[in-house]
Amino acid sequence: MRGAPVAFGVFGMNEHLMQTYARLPVAFARGEGVRLWDTDGKECLDALSGIAVCSLGHANPAVSEALCAQAGELVHTSNLYGIENQSKLGDALCRLSGMDKAFFSNSGAEANEAAIKLARLYGSQKGVADPAIVVMEGAFHGRTLATLSATGNRKIQAGFEPLVSGFNRVPYNDLEAVQRVAENNPNVVAVLVEPVQGENGVRIPDAGYLAGLRENCDANGWLLMLDEIQTGMCRTGRWFAFQHEDILPDVMTLAKALGNGVPIGACLAHGVAADVLGPGTHGSTFGGNPLMCRAALAVVDVMESDNLADRAEALGQRFADGLSSRIGGLDAVSNIRHKGLMIAVDFDRETAPLVKIALDHGVLVNATAGNVMRLLPPLVATDEEADAMIERIVAAVKEFLQ
Ligand SMILES: *Cc1c(COP(=O)(O)O)cnc(C)c1O
Repeated sequence: MRGAPVAFGVFGMNEHLMQTYARLPVAFARGEGVRLWDTDGKECLDALSGIAVCSLGHANPAVSEALCAQAGELVHTSNLYGIENQSKLGDALCRLSGMDKAFFSNSGAEANEAAIKLARLYGSQKGVADPAIVVMEGAFHGRTLATLSATGNRKIQAGFEPLVSGFNRVPYNDLEAVQRVAENNPNVVAVLVEPVQGENGVRIPDAGYLAGLRENCDANGWLLMLDEIQTGMCRTGRWFAFQHEDILPDVMTLAKALGNGVPIGACLAHGVAADVLGPGTHGSTFGGNPLMCRAALAVVDVMESDNLADRAEALGQRFADGLSSRIGGLDAVSNIRHKGLMIAVDFDRETAPLVKIALDHGVLVNATAGNVMRLLPPLVATDEEADAMIERIVAAVKEFLQ
């Protein structure tokens, strides 16, 4: 999409917008559940949910009502004062996760910044002069300087050197590599890892990986910090992906689906980690304000009352089965995998062109990690809506491979 900007209305490409995204030539004006309508009124099924954000679908009535009600009462005060909705949300997230305390931010990257600062302060309080954090090849943790330094993707880092130091990188899904770091680096204080690598193409580690990391962290006095920004909030078939294994992290970050589109992130901590960040060590002007927390409370309420973790597991299986039977046998398709409603199809070629073809077929999908088609459908889709998405995706894939 480089070159002359394409004009297509007020929401689209514009000479006054920095071109940080290679945008598709479409802008959406309205949404309802799994459906979006573009500025020309054309309907589209959303199998991406704004990248795992709108898990409750677009314009979810419970979230919209909560936002409207809160907007009429109080939008913002300050973290200089008590915020009732923030307290309630902290209570709810700790009850669901088993964590002890929460810090609220405005985005995923900021939630990870809080986690990284927490780990460094934890190290510094233990007397480690130059604390380091173990991170993974292929990881994605955000676009701020610290989080892009923690990210394991050179394309995201290139040109932004000097990077933030203090990250030791090891291969993903390799417990022995973490053990070797433990033997060679006395300054390590934490491990930061995604339970499933989302941006890297839905990489699902072996069962027992997180439990192995937990053991490793316990043996070395390190904090296990899980980036559940994409995997959290019922996406993988549990409230949080670590609940697939019988462990508790020391730190967990959330964002994406937490506000169903309202910007909010959270850094939760357990045990000793919960008391590391004290007064004056961290902050945020907007973080955890009454409006964003009210939205997140509505999200939690719907996910809990509609049991969407179980729904994500069942629906993920439906997508995987549907795609496997329809395109799994094609020569160009080498693998179909899923963890709940994080779904990936590996192709023998770059998937970027597939995204536009799918759009023309009326379905939103994502290309990531080169040859991967990634799906992150809303958790509220009915079986019929899921089947309609599969139908359109299959048609798009067939055209893509022609
Ligand atoms: C999206 C994402 C982030 C970054 O979140 P932002 O809200 O874009 O800052 C970090 N980690 C993971 C695993 C993500 O999927």
